Amino acid sequence: MALVVQKFGGTSMGSIERIKNAASRSLAAHREGHRVAVIVSAMAGETDRLLRLAREVAQIPNAREMDALAATGEQVSSALMAIAIQSLGGKARSFLGHQMKVLTDSAFTKARIKTIDAQRVISALDEGEIAVIAGFQGVDDEGNITTLGRGGSDTSAVAIAAALNADVCEIFTDVDGVYTTDPNVCPTARKITKISYEEMLELASLGAKVLQIRSVEMAMKYGVPVHVRSSFSTSPGTLVTSEGDLEQVVVTGVAYDKAEARVMLVGVVDRPGIVAEVFSELAQRNVSVDMIIQNVSTSDRAPGAPGLRTDVTFTVAKSDLARVKEAIADIAKRVEALDVRYDEDIVKVSIVGLGMRSHAGVASTMFGILAKEGINIQAISTSEIKISCLVATKYTELAVRALHDGFGLAKEPVEEHGGV
Ligand code: ADP
Ligand code: ASP
Ligand code: MG
Repeated sequence: MALVVQKFGGTSMGSIERIKNAASRSLAAHREGHRVAVIVSAMAGETDRLLRLAREVAQIPNAREMDALAATGEQVSSALMAIAIQSLGGKARSFLGHQMKVLTDSAFTKARIKTIDAQRVISALDEGEIAVIAGFQGVDDEGNITTLGRGGSDTSAVAIAAALNADVCEIFTDVDGVYTTDPNVCPTARKITKISYEEMLELASLGAKVLQIRSVEMAMKYGVPVHVRSSFSTSPGTLVTSEGDLEQVVVTGVAYDKAEARVMLVGVVDRPGIVAEVFSELAQRNVSVDMIIQNVSTSDRAPGAPGLRTDVTFTVAKSDLARVKEAIADIAKRVEALDVRYDEDIVKVSIVGLGMRSHAGVASTMFGILAKEGINIQAISTSEIKISCLVATKYTELAVRALHDGFGLAKEPVEEHGGV
């Protein structure tokens, strides 16, 4: 008998039919003799709908109330899932974040889990019930409802698996595993049978939303084996564990992220302490900055002339853009910027691979592939094991496919066995 944590994502909970399908999978595992805890996401599209409602009411809705609102999606789906299991003859009980309880900090809309008290869930499992837990949500020290950031049910699932010391955390989603790139964008993407936490972490942090970044961090920290698989088939998916089985290739995957926006402070006075001033102000407002470039200003002032100016360009999450805009007038004034420009029409395309540590020339190959397709690169950032390029959104598919196939990740073409 094993302890199995199963997480069903939005698509897997997207309709009553699908909830029933998920319920029968959980029940099947229970009937095989396993102890089963289920974590559910809101029904597909529901979280977006709720957040849209809040933005219709206010441009920058209060974060505490956003969480109180967004958490209702999972309250609905957890109750429906428990009812579905019961209607199939099983025993089930639903738990919300505060009932469990999943204690988080108070960073509304992106809270971090501090501790989990799994006692009530363990009692339910001891009584032969399937515990159905609302993902994505927690509660802070003061009893406020918090949420864990978009895609946060993955993190709920892994955290609960760690707290229960589960044998496996199964992530049921709408694809049958982790691929070399998003299979919905690149038809030649290949399924990876086994991937290391480290590589999965890199793919997730660069936009492969199949697993939320924090869920991978947590799985790595607590050694939780994660099995990413399809809720619509029984075939095995991808195992995320301490070792991968990717042959030592240089590039293991391609990811893209449309969630960032570019901000450009034009013609900032070039004196020491300028960037510190810009970024400490943003940090104080809890805005994380990703890529940063500083170069000689495109403004008319001649370089070298008194009052030398520089352009400071950076990217932030689109979801933080309203807060950036709120802060920017003050920042722009302090650094004497001549203009501020925003661009939301960008995508960050990245290649990832542990093998890049020991290979030269990968960046130039990447730039060459993009150049060949006529794709202009607006910003670049690199680390030991990844290279990211910022390009216009319209090139997403083209860039992902060209890089994927250009780095030899495409699956072998299926051989045609035509009759003679
Ligand atoms: P869920 O609602 O089940 O949490 P998500 O939409 O959050 O599902 O994540 C699954 C999606 O992740 C897939 O439909 C796919 O488009 C996307 N995805 C992006 N990169 C990858 C990748 N490398 N492998 C598999 N899926 C990926
Ligand atoms: N419902 C939340 C979201 O859409 C959490 C999740 O699905 O993991 O982001
Ligand atoms: Mg998800």
